Formats: sequence, structure tokens, C-alpha cells
Amino acid sequence: MKVLIVGGGVAGLAAARGLTAAGHDVEVYEAAPELRTEGGSITLWPSAAGILREFDVDMDGAGRRLETLETWSVRGRKLGTIDLNVVERQFGGLHAMHIARRELVERLAEGIPVHYGHRIQAVDPDRAEITFTDGSTARGDLLIGADGRNSVVRQALWGESPSKLNGWVTWQAFTTLPTEFTDTGRSMMISNGRAFGSVAPAGHGKALWWFDLRAKPGSSFWGDTPGALDRLRERFGHWPEPFPTVLDHAHSALFHPHYGHRVPATWGRGPTTLMGDAAHTMSPAMAMGSGQALEDAWALSRSADDLRGYERARTKIVRRVARMAGRELPSRQGPLAGLMPDAFSTRSFISWLRSASGYLQEEAWLREEASLQEEARLQRPLGVELEAASQRASA
Ligand SMILES: Cc1cc2nc3c(=O)[nH]c(=O)nc-3n(C[C@H](O)[C@H](O)[C@H](O)COP(=O)(O)OP(=O)(O)OC[C@H]3O[C@@H](n4cnc5c(N)ncnc54)[C@H](O)[C@@H]3O)c2cc1C
Repeated sequence: MKVLIVGGGVAGLAAARGLTAAGHDVEVYEAAPELRTEGGSITLWPSAAGILREFDVDMDGAGRRLETLETWSVRGRKLGTIDLNVVERQFGGLHAMHIARRELVERLAEGIPVHYGHRIQAVDPDRAEITFTDGSTARGDLLIGADGRNSVVRQALWGESPSKLNGWVTWQAFTTLPTEFTDTGRSMMISNGRAFGSVAPAGHGKALWWFDLRAKPGSSFWGDTPGALDRLRERFGHWPEPFPTVLDHAHSALFHPHYGHRVPATWGRGPTTLMGDAAHTMSPAMAMGSGQALEDAWALSRSADDLRGYERARTKIVRRVARMAGRELPSRQGPLAGLMPDAFSTRSFISWLRSASGYLQEEAWLREEASLQEEARLQRPLGVELEAASQRASA
């Protein structure tokens, strides 16, 4: 089938890889004149590692493998640790990682011919037809809107974007740190109940730090205003290490307001569907936006001939993930933080990751089936012997 993809972000690039590998003839149209590499960094959970491997993306040396997710109090007391080595073993060696958005899109884009500088201004979803700003058109058998939060494909299908600001914002940046922190796989999170701070190693001697807090348009923490870094230092500079060191070494910070909406049951019509932020913009609080875009790409590459089936399967999962993210409170920072044994937190985290991934659910099922077959194979000679013994006994 000829597949047109609008948007060359994480979602569009991943779908292009999956659908090309599935034998489709894929064309990607991106408005920007070249690959958009801006942004902070992204946490990818084990399902993403599996999908990237299936899509043949070379991730050698990319990002930083994570080993622990630690929760600390603002008084500097460790409240708990999720052991990602256990998580990795549980998912057959698929690891969690933290990676610069730039590095992820560069790796995804390798070998994918993208038509840059092609902004789509109109869409006919029933004919899978797109119109470019110069008036020319292209038509496919399938049309996929991977064009982000303000998707024109979505607008043609369902009108204005339903996503709304939810009152939270992220301030974040990469910082080169002269500490041993960037060489470890430790990710730290701290909360005082009103704001969250986190630092995670992102590879190449850098750490990504971010603070999530409430801010309204026009307030001092809203928008890329001068002095934002000083205000962050004033508010969070007394939190336990490594936050003071990180803020001391930072030169700038990026502003990222949180948007979200209820994920609808149907994403498309006829030969047209949506994926990534175009279908489900969500708060970054659970670090799931890019991972869910990869899940969309994986599901689409297997169900291109059944778009409504793809949407049904994905809605079931994404709706729950988006709702959790919209709460802006990672469970490990909730009222029970510090009371749960680490092993319990790790097991709960494994269950959460599995519930958030169609890929992992299928992997688990496949592995279970393989182990049952292996068990049956090992038991067969025993069964034959037992039968022979019982025949001897009755003879
Ligand atoms: C530059 C940038 C920086 C980001 N930084 C962060 C960050 O720091 N933290 C975070 O949590 N998330 C960030 N995100 C969002 C995160 O990458 C996405 O939530 C997630 O990866 C899902 O990606 P997506 O491909 O669905 O959407 P997006 O990443 O938004 O990609 C959509 C793509 O479609 C293109 N496009 C839009 N309209 C048209 C059109 N009419 N015609 C053709 N092309 C079009 C856009 O140029 C863009 O490249 C950023 C996204 C971008 C684009």
C-alpha cells in the first residue's frame, strides 16, 4: 500500500520504519526544512528498547542505560528505589534508558527519506489526500497524521485540538556535570508535594534535570522569560545534592507547558488515522509521550489493513496512561512514598510498564507460550517412560 505520513517527529519516523519494513511504500512529509532536533531528553522504558530493536534502529552507544529510579525527600532522605536491573531481567534484557531527543530522532531518521520543507495545509481524510502550501497534492491508500499536538490531519477529521493546558509546566535543560553522577545509571526524583525535581544521566557526560511545577500564563515561571534560571535557583537551589550543583552549572533552561485531553475511542475515518501527540497529547509526568508514539508505530506496522482495530487496541492502553500522566503525581511520590518496600515498588512498576504496553503484553504472552512448549518437550520423554512402565506393570 502507498502510505502518506504527515510529520517527521518521533511518531512519524518510527511509523515510517515499521511500515517500510512491513513492505509498504511510505512517504513522509515534514514542514520543517530539516530534522527537528530541539528539545530536552526522553526516558524510554523497556518496551521502547524492544520496538526500536524490531525496527532495526541502531541504538549502539545512544543515551544512558538506567539502573535505578530513586525517590528522595527534600530533607535528603532516600524514600525508595526501583531497581531497573530487576525490571530489565523481567523483560528479557530490554532496558530503560534516558536519551537526548536529538539523539533519538537522529537515530530514527537514519536511512528514512523524508520530504523536508513540505507543510501540509489541507487534508481530505476520506480520499487520503493532502494539499501542500504551494497547492500541489499527493494521494495514498493510507494517510497517517503524525503531526503533533496541533495536527492538521486531526483538524480535518475532528476540528480543533482538544488538548488544554493543565496548569503544570516543566523547566528543563542538559547540563555537563563535573560530578560522578553522569557516569552512573541513577535517576533521582524529589518532591515537596507542590513541585517535583529530577536529574537523570543522559550519556556523553551530561545529565538532564527538570522541575515540574504549577504556573499560570503571565506568572514568573511562565514562558521563556529572562531570569528564569535565577528564579529556579532561588526556589530549588537549597534542595539536596545534586540539585544545587546542577543549577550552578546550568546556562539556560527550556520551558515546556503540559497539555492533555481525554483520549477518544476513534482516531480516524476511512483510510486516515492518527498517531503520537496528534492522537494523544499527554503530560510528560509519566515520561510516556514518546514511548506511546513508538507503541503506535509498532501497532500500526502490524495493522495497516485494519485502522479501526489499531485505534481500538491503542485507545484501551493510551487512555489509562494519559489519565495517569494528567494526575501529575508519580505514584512513587504519593502519600505512600517511603512506606513501601523497594521490592514491592519494583514489582508494581513492572506491572505498570506491562499495562502501558501492547508490545510487552504480547512479548510476555509469547515468552510464556515458548516456556510452556519447552516444558512439554522436556516432559514428553518422561511421559513416554511412564506409559511404558505402566504397560510393563499391567503385563
Ligand atoms: C522540537 C520539539 C521539541 C520537543 N521537546 C520536548 C521536550 O523537551 N520534552 C518533552 O517531553 N517533549 C518534547 N517534545 C514532544 C515529544 O517529542 C513528543 O511528545 C513525542 O515524541 C511524540 O512525538 P510526535 O512525533 O507525535 O509529535 P512531534 O514531536 O510534535 O512531531 C510532529 C512533527 O510534525 C511536524 N508537523 C506539524 N504540522 C505539520 C504540517 N502541517 N505539515 C507537515 N509537518 C507538520 C512538526 O514539525 C513535527 O516535526 C518536543 C517536540 C518537538 C517537535
